[in-house]
Amino acid sequence: MPAAPQRPFNFAPGPATLPDSVLRQAAEEMLDWHGSGMGVMEMSHRGKEFVSILEQAVSTLRELLAVPPHFHILFMQGGGLGENAIVPMNLAGPQAGGLIDVVVTGSWSKKSLVEAQRYGDARAAASNEVDGRTSIPAAATWQLRDGAAYVHVCSNETIDGLEMATLPDLAALGCQSPLVADCSSHILSRQIDWSRVGVVFAGAQKNIGPAGLTLVFVREDLLGRALPICPSAFDYSVVAAHGSMYNTPPTYSIYIAGLVFEWVKAQGGVAEMDRRAAEKSALLYNYLDDCGGFYRNRVAKDARSRMNVPFFLTNETLNDAFLAGAREAGLLQLKGHKSVGGMRASLYNAMPLAGVQALVDYMKDFARRHG
Ligand code: PMP
Repeated sequence: MPAAPQRPFNFAPGPATLPDSVLRQAAEEMLDWHGSGMGVMEMSHRGKEFVSILEQAVSTLRELLAVPPHFHILFMQGGGLGENAIVPMNLAGPQAGGLIDVVVTGSWSKKSLVEAQRYGDARAAASNEVDGRTSIPAAATWQLRDGAAYVHVCSNETIDGLEMATLPDLAALGCQSPLVADCSSHILSRQIDWSRVGVVFAGAQKNIGPAGLTLVFVREDLLGRALPICPSAFDYSVVAAHGSMYNTPPTYSIYIAGLVFEWVKAQGGVAEMDRRAAEKSALLYNYLDDCGGFYRNRVAKDARSRMNVPFFLTNETLNDAFLAGAREAGLLQLKGHKSVGGMRASLYNAMPLAGVQALVDYMKDFARRHG
């Protein structure tokens, strides 16, 4: 078979690029999955074919992230913003006191705070808005309240380009509340310290697969606390009791996610994704730091995201020319989020090092021509 032509490199923040081999396999299996005579989208979610797809996806994911047995893995819907309501409805019931502490480190945790205020007494335990969202407030400065139902962090801020190098150790800060981490935009790029979290959630549409699937990891002891208003389909206890099959799950998204999990495993697992994330992001940040001011990234070095790299042209009148030239060079979706402007390169697991090298080469050439 002739080699498939090289596709453009896609730096979208999500929905985002997926491994070529996964998309090709999905294309081959589109009309007939494993001789079943059916495409995955056409199968009953309760039939043996789809049940085997779901079970395999859950078990590979558990293996990849070394998820301990006392955590349930739930495949849900509603995305990251859905979880901003689903988490408080599940954890901030009357017996938990209704206090919710949110560490605001960017746009997504700010949204989590505002949504949580509809369900409980939610407050910002810290905020980086004072420094223009360029650093992560030290955990020792967070104002955590005794007996809070949970503490929320977004460990990778997709829009602002900040990442927590490690998840905070709340116990070491004298806080007994469970930690909830929104890992939507860096899940599977590094290991998770399960001793530090109660709930992890992640939309699939960045590092994992198509939009429509939300991964939730919930510690066993946190089940059974939901507020009475929590819809059954969003009640972690109900979803766990039905093995993510209380309602019809997003079957095709789960299938693609399963193929991506196998791809990650075949590449060398999460440790290899971690190594590649360090290598790819260093290539781009080193250039940004050494380019002599043509481009800038404003984030403090110890808070820089390895997944999402926002950057700005000092001469912003060149933005349109930069994006048009990038498209011509086969470098897609580099425009920054509308709330921030400038550019953003998302370097998820499926982005090869060659893509980041092509971006840096293009940036150098553009700067030489316009500097
Ligand atoms: N949290 C983070 C960190 C995100 O990056 C996003 C989406 N970009 C969301 C939450 C919201 O996800 P959704 O659009 O799936 O609701």
